[in-house]
Amino acid sequence: MLDTNHLLEVKNLKTYFPVRSGIFLTAQAQCKAVDDISFSLQAGETLGLVGESGCGKSTLGKTIARLIKPNNGSIHFQNTDITTLGRKKLKPLRKDIQMIFQDPADSLNSRHSISNILEEPFIIHGIGNAKHRKKRVCELMKKVGLQANAIDRFPFEFSGGQRQRIGIARAIALNPKLIICDEPVSALDVSVQSQVLNLLMDLQKEMQLSYLFIAHDLAVVKHISDRIAIMYLGKIVEMGEADDIYQRPRHPYTRALISAIPTPDPRKKSKRQILVGDVPSPINPPSGCPFHTRCPHVQDICRTKLPLLRNTAETDQKKHTVACHFDL
Ligand code: ADP
Ligand code: MG
Repeated sequence: MLDTNHLLEVKNLKTYFPVRSGIFLTAQAQCKAVDDISFSLQAGETLGLVGESGCGKSTLGKTIARLIKPNNGSIHFQNTDITTLGRKKLKPLRKDIQMIFQDPADSLNSRHSISNILEEPFIIHGIGNAKHRKKRVCELMKKVGLQANAIDRFPFEFSGGQRQRIGIARAIALNPKLIICDEPVSALDVSVQSQVLNLLMDLQKEMQLSYLFIAHDLAVVKHISDRIAIMYLGKIVEMGEADDIYQRPRHPYTRALISAIPTPDPRKKSKRQILVGDVPSPINPPSGCPFHTRCPHVQDICRTKLPLLRNTAETDQKKHTVACHFDL
């Protein structure tokens, strides 16, 4: 049964990439980038998605935006099954689900003026005439804190933070419901990061947006997220309300990520848990618990049995789920 309050409902989602090798480039193995992920998102909510590089965050984001087709599982958006929609049926959906990427320099066409870049979504969806579009472009510039008279300039004439504002303007142009923010501030200086995060939060209030906000460290998502999901090797290993994740992290991986956040007060310095080794390959993931090869609490059962997400919160309404065999 689907909960009708959910804007987005993802169930048992799997996205595998074939790994080709040999002279005939036949698919020999699979890279399990997204491996059995389920969660839901309410209208107006922000879910932070955090994990080390290579754990499948971008693949999950792109699969939900249906830029990639999943192998298994389902994606419901506004109670419509969008898992296998073809190109034509996806077009109206493209208005409602948008993406913002890490490097706006890559996602903005450098040969086009800002005016052309921001006008494009309206042209693709056949909205308004030239005059109307120009007006909307100027409104968008103002909305993201840029001077409307800069519309004839090119992306390279802007700073990184300003370019990301242009990326945001393009994403909100058609009044989307959900924006998948794939590390939108990771390439920016810390001071600029908070300005862009504030802009995203202001726009969320104004336009009732929902965000899936992807980051590789927990510090960035702290203020913007209502709930946080921690991802490791294609799976969610812990999920709960943002405060609970920071104050009562249950999974040893989450604890290691939290201890890696720098604290400004040296007296409060927590004991830093260094994660040893790299993330194992999703082509040949460890048996049992995927984290067992790096876990300081590893026991025999962890090497053979996959722990499923279970609720550890006192009440059923306030969920805090963790995939670990132990109550640490
Ligand atoms: P993250 O965003 O967390 O850094 P990605 O989703 O980019 O992780 O990648 C997850 C895994 O999937 C990685 O092992 C990556 O090499 C692999 N992968 C990502 N995209 C592709 C692709 N188009 N083809 C094959 N493998 C891919
Ligand atoms: Mg990524």
